[in-house]
Amino acid sequence: MRLSRPRMRAWKNVAVSATLRRLRPEWVPRPHAAHLITTYRCNLKCLGCGSWKVQDHADLSTEEWLGVFRQLRSLDVVKLLGGEPFVRKDMKDLMIGVRDIIDPYSSSASTSRGPMTPSTSSTPWSSTPPA
Ligand code: SF4
Repeated sequence: MRLSRPRMRAWKNVAVSATLRRLRPEWVPRPHAAHLITTYRCNLKCLGCGSWKVQDHADLSTEEWLGVFRQLRSLDVVKLLGGEPFVRKDMKDLMIGVRDIIDPYSSSASTSRGPMTPSTSSTPWSSTPPA
């Protein structure tokens, strides 16, 4: 079985971290995963959630996020979260940025409940710059 480069890198990073942790218990491994909250905005108002109640939205711009990704090139797992991540018109650009800049083993916009995805919305994947 042939492993992809990101997958091989992820397994190597896990093995190195596990080995060093055994040899030097005081050693703190570098993060392998990041869950990045791209916005608290949401088009739904679920009863148990406080995300949609957040009033102060100072979301990073596309360029600012791409700058963050450049500082996180060593990550193996990246999740772009919200709120509803797809309320960002640039979510496609951010996902492409994660792929092209970090190239992690796994990435996703994993907290979406789907109300803004292509099958449920007429305008989610525009290439328009972010608001
Ligand atoms: S869809 Fe998710 S982020 Fe939006 S209100 Fe519901 S739980 Fe919160």
